[in-house]
Amino acid sequence: MTQKHVKHVPLRTCVACRTKRPQIELVRLVRSPAGEFSIDPAKGASGRGLYLCRNRQCWVDGVQNGRIARATRSPVETRSAAELMAWAGNNLSSSEFSRVE
Ligand SMILES: [Zn+2]
Repeated sequence: MTQKHVKHVPLRTCVACRTKRPQIELVRLVRSPAGEFSIDPAKGASGRGLYLCRNRQCWVDGVQNGRIARATRSPVETRSAAELMAWAGNNLSSSEFSRVE
């Protein structure tokens, strides 16, 4: 990959499907030093950040099928996984790219 000359929009990669998207289209998660994962809606929390699409399938792959664990080399403990999937269930539709805001 060569570097582009112009880069207006910061791109981030979804850890589940590896698609690069503008940061604003993704949901940021952070991992605390204690190893807990949580949603970071303001995208400003400190800690190890990672991104998932607003697409429930990516959350299933990321949280339940181990993509987050592989990307961060840190297992998603059961409580965090339950919280993340509950959030996804409430905020994301199963069809791709429904807007939350
Ligand atoms: Zn994705």
